[in-house]
Amino acid sequence: MSLELRPRTAQAPGPEVLFSAAEIAARIGTLADEIIADPVMVEAARPPLAVCALRGAFMFTADLMRALSARGLDLEVTFLQVASYGSGTAPQGPVTLLQDTDSTAAGRPVLLIDDILDTGHTLAFLQTHLRAQGATGIVSTVLLDKTERREAGVSADHIGFDCPNVFVVGYGMDADGRYRGLPYVGVL
Ligand code: 5GP
Ligand code: MG
Repeated sequence: MSLELRPRTAQAPGPEVLFSAAEIAARIGTLADEIIADPVMVEAARPPLAVCALRGAFMFTADLMRALSARGLDLEVTFLQVASYGSGTAPQGPVTLLQDTDSTAAGRPVLLIDDILDTGHTLAFLQTHLRAQGATGIVSTVLLDKTERREAGVSADHIGFDCPNVFVVGYGMDADGRYRGLPYVGVL
Protein backbone atom coordinates (compact mmCIF):
# COMPACT_ATOMS: atom_id res chain seq x y z
CA MET A 1 0.00 0.00 0.00
CA SER A 2 1.74 3.18 -1.14
CA LEU A 3 -1.03 5.62 -0.14
CA GLU A 4 0.03 7.71 2.82
CA LEU A 5 -3.03 7.39 5.05
CA ARG A 6 -3.19 9.81 7.92
CA PRO A 7 -6.35 9.57 10.03
CA ARG A 8 -7.71 12.92 11.18
CA THR A 9 -6.52 13.63 14.69
CA ALA A 10 -6.17 16.60 16.98
CA GLN A 11 -2.68 17.03 15.50
CA ALA A 12 -3.96 16.90 11.90
CA PRO A 13 -7.43 18.40 12.11
CA GLY A 14 -9.65 18.72 9.05
CA PRO A 15 -11.59 21.81 8.04
CA GLU A 16 -13.49 23.52 10.86
CA VAL A 17 -17.04 22.17 11.35
CA LEU A 18 -19.85 24.39 10.07
CA PHE A 19 -22.63 21.77 9.96
CA SER A 20 -21.90 18.48 11.73
CA ALA A 21 -22.83 15.05 10.40
CA ALA A 22 -25.51 14.77 13.11
CA GLU A 23 -26.98 18.17 12.25
CA ILE A 24 -27.07 17.27 8.56
CA ALA A 25 -28.73 13.90 9.24
CA ALA A 26 -31.41 15.50 11.42
CA ARG A 27 -32.13 18.25 8.91
CA ILE A 28 -32.37 15.82 6.00
CA GLY A 29 -35.11 13.97 7.89
CA THR A 30 -37.22 17.10 8.27
CA LEU A 31 -36.38 18.18 4.72
CA ALA A 32 -37.71 14.84 3.44
CA ASP A 33 -40.95 15.46 5.36
CA GLU A 34 -41.25 18.90 3.72
CA ILE A 35 -40.53 17.57 0.21
CA ILE A 36 -43.07 14.77 0.56
CA ALA A 37 -45.71 17.35 1.52
CA ASP A 38 -44.84 19.69 -1.38
CA PRO A 39 -47.95 20.16 -3.57
CA VAL A 40 -46.01 19.40 -6.77
CA MET A 41 -44.97 16.04 -5.29
CA VAL A 42 -48.38 15.32 -3.78
CA GLU A 43 -50.28 16.12 -6.97
CA ALA A 44 -47.85 14.41 -9.35
CA ALA A 45 -49.72 12.41 -11.99
CA ARG A 46 -46.55 10.45 -12.83
CA PRO A 47 -43.74 9.36 -10.48
CA PRO A 48 -41.29 12.20 -9.93
CA LEU A 49 -37.72 11.90 -11.20
CA ALA A 50 -34.88 12.91 -8.87
CA VAL A 51 -32.14 14.80 -10.73
CA CYS A 52 -28.80 15.11 -8.94
CA ALA A 53 -26.42 17.86 -10.03
CA LEU A 54 -22.97 16.32 -9.99
CA ARG A 55 -20.59 16.31 -8.51
CA GLY A 56 -21.16 18.21 -5.27
CA ALA A 57 -24.69 16.94 -4.60
CA PHE A 58 -23.96 13.20 -4.71
CA MET A 59 -23.81 12.66 -0.95
CA PHE A 60 -26.79 14.89 -0.20
CA THR A 61 -28.75 13.06 -2.91
CA ALA A 62 -27.88 9.65 -1.45
CA ASP A 63 -28.93 10.61 2.08
CA LEU A 64 -32.04 12.49 0.95
CA MET A 65 -33.18 9.53 -1.15
CA ARG A 66 -32.75 7.18 1.81
CA ALA A 67 -34.79 9.54 3.97
CA LEU A 68 -37.51 9.80 1.30
CA SER A 69 -37.56 6.03 0.87
CA ALA A 70 -37.89 5.53 4.64
CA ARG A 71 -41.01 7.71 4.38
CA GLY A 72 -42.47 5.65 1.52
CA LEU A 73 -41.28 7.71 -1.47
CA ASP A 74 -38.98 5.70 -3.68
CA LEU A 75 -37.74 7.86 -6.53
CA GLU A 76 -36.02 7.05 -9.79
CA VAL A 77 -32.78 9.03 -9.91
CA THR A 78 -30.68 10.41 -12.70
CA PHE A 79 -27.62 12.64 -12.85
CA LEU A 80 -26.29 15.54 -14.79
CA GLN A 81 -23.10 17.49 -14.44
CA VAL A 82 -22.55 21.18 -14.78
CA ALA A 83 -19.28 23.08 -14.72
CA SER A 84 -19.02 26.19 -12.64
CA TYR A 85 -15.99 26.46 -10.40
CA GLY A 86 -13.22 24.54 -12.16
CA SER A 87 -10.33 24.43 -9.72
CA GLY A 88 -10.99 27.87 -8.22
CA THR A 89 -13.24 29.08 -5.46
CA ALA A 90 -15.28 31.58 -7.50
CA PRO A 91 -17.65 31.01 -10.44
CA GLN A 92 -15.83 31.00 -13.76
CA GLY A 93 -18.07 32.31 -16.48
CA PRO A 94 -21.35 30.90 -17.77
CA VAL A 95 -22.71 27.57 -16.60
CA THR A 96 -22.08 24.75 -19.05
CA LEU A 97 -23.58 21.27 -19.20
CA LEU A 98 -20.84 18.64 -19.10
CA GLN A 99 -23.15 15.64 -18.98
CA ASP A 100 -26.90 15.46 -19.50
CA THR A 101 -29.40 13.14 -17.79
CA ASP A 102 -29.99 9.72 -19.33
CA SER A 103 -33.63 9.50 -18.23
CA THR A 104 -35.69 12.27 -19.72
CA ALA A 105 -37.80 14.49 -17.51
CA ALA A 106 -40.43 14.77 -20.27
CA GLY A 107 -43.94 14.54 -18.87
CA ARG A 108 -42.81 14.12 -15.26
CA PRO A 109 -42.25 16.32 -12.26
CA VAL A 110 -38.63 16.63 -11.19
CA LEU A 111 -37.00 16.85 -7.78
CA LEU A 112 -33.88 18.86 -8.59
CA ILE A 113 -31.10 18.34 -6.04
CA ASP A 114 -28.02 20.54 -5.73
CA ASP A 115 -25.47 21.13 -3.01
CA ILE A 116 -25.27 24.93 -2.80
CA LEU A 117 -27.33 27.81 -4.09
CA ASP A 118 -24.87 30.65 -4.45
CA THR A 119 -25.14 33.23 -7.26
CA GLY A 120 -28.10 31.20 -8.55
CA HIS A 121 -26.85 30.90 -12.12
CA THR A 122 -26.55 27.11 -11.86
CA LEU A 123 -30.08 26.61 -10.53
CA ALA A 124 -31.53 29.02 -13.11
CA PHE A 125 -29.70 27.13 -15.86
CA LEU A 126 -30.89 23.74 -14.60
CA GLN A 127 -34.51 24.84 -14.26
CA THR A 128 -34.50 26.13 -17.84
CA HIS A 129 -32.83 22.95 -19.04
CA LEU A 130 -35.31 20.63 -17.33
CA ARG A 131 -38.31 22.67 -18.49
CA ALA A 132 -36.95 22.39 -22.04
CA GLN A 133 -36.84 18.60 -21.53
CA GLY A 134 -40.55 18.77 -20.75
CA ALA A 135 -40.65 18.45 -16.96
CA THR A 136 -44.21 19.09 -15.80
CA GLY A 137 -43.04 20.71 -12.58
CA ILE A 138 -39.80 21.28 -10.72
CA VAL A 139 -39.28 21.06 -6.99
CA SER A 140 -35.79 22.26 -6.14
CA THR A 141 -33.83 21.46 -3.03
CA VAL A 142 -30.36 22.55 -1.98
CA LEU A 143 -28.43 21.61 1.13
CA LEU A 144 -27.00 25.10 1.58
CA ASP A 145 -28.24 28.54 0.58
CA LYS A 146 -25.85 31.50 0.43
CA THR A 147 -28.50 34.16 0.06
CA GLU A 148 -25.98 37.02 0.27
CA ARG A 149 -24.39 36.10 -3.02
CA ARG A 150 -27.48 35.88 -5.23
CA GLU A 151 -27.26 37.36 -8.74
CA ALA A 152 -29.94 35.39 -10.60
CA GLY A 153 -33.55 35.83 -9.48
CA VAL A 154 -34.02 32.27 -8.26
CA SER A 155 -34.72 30.58 -4.96
CA ALA A 156 -34.89 26.93 -3.95
CA ASP A 157 -38.17 25.42 -2.75
CA HIS A 158 -36.59 23.45 0.10
CA ILE A 159 -33.39 24.57 1.80
CA GLY A 160 -31.33 22.55 4.25
CA PHE A 161 -29.42 25.37 5.92
CA ASP A 162 -28.78 29.06 5.40
CA CYS A 163 -25.05 29.32 4.82
CA PRO A 164 -22.72 32.22 5.56
CA ASN A 165 -20.67 33.64 2.73
CA VAL A 166 -17.66 31.35 3.19
CA PHE A 167 -16.17 28.66 0.96
CA VAL A 168 -17.29 25.28 2.29
CA VAL A 169 -16.05 21.76 1.68
CA GLY A 170 -17.06 18.25 2.67
CA TYR A 171 -20.22 16.19 2.47
CA GLY A 172 -19.70 15.88 -1.29
CA MET A 173 -18.24 19.32 -1.86
CA ASP A 174 -14.63 19.89 -2.84
CA ALA A 175 -11.83 22.38 -3.02
CA ASP A 176 -9.88 21.49 -6.14
CA GLY A 177 -10.93 17.83 -5.83
CA ARG A 178 -10.26 17.43 -2.10
CA TYR A 179 -12.50 16.88 0.93
CA ARG A 180 -15.57 15.40 -0.81
CA GLY A 181 -15.57 12.41 1.57
CA LEU A 182 -15.75 14.44 4.80
CA PRO A 183 -18.94 13.46 6.67
CA TYR A 184 -19.61 17.09 7.67
CA VAL A 185 -19.68 20.53 6.02
CA GLY A 186 -16.55 22.40 6.95
CA VAL A 187 -14.75 25.65 6.30
CA LEU A 188 -11.14 25.70 5.22
P1 5GP B 1 -24.06 29.26 -8.38
O1 5GP B 1 -24.30 29.07 -9.85
O2 5GP B 1 -25.31 29.29 -7.57
O3 5GP B 1 -23.18 30.45 -8.10
O4 5GP B 1 -23.15 28.08 -7.98
C1 5GP B 1 -23.60 27.02 -7.36
C2 5GP B 1 -22.56 25.93 -7.41
O5 5GP B 1 -21.26 26.42 -7.10
C3 5GP B 1 -22.88 24.94 -6.36
O6 5GP B 1 -23.73 23.94 -6.87
C4 5GP B 1 -21.53 24.42 -5.99
O7 5GP B 1 -21.22 23.34 -6.85
C5 5GP B 1 -20.59 25.55 -6.23
N1 5GP B 1 -20.30 26.25 -4.96
C6 5GP B 1 -20.82 27.41 -4.51
N2 5GP B 1 -20.33 27.75 -3.31
C7 5GP B 1 -19.47 26.77 -2.98
C8 5GP B 1 -18.64 26.53 -1.83
O8 5GP B 1 -18.59 27.29 -0.83
N3 5GP B 1 -17.91 25.39 -1.85
C9 5GP B 1 -17.92 24.51 -2.90
N4 5GP B 1 -17.15 23.43 -2.81
N5 5GP B 1 -18.69 24.69 -4.00
C10 5GP B 1 -19.45 25.81 -4.03
MG1 MG C 1 -23.16 22.08 -7.41
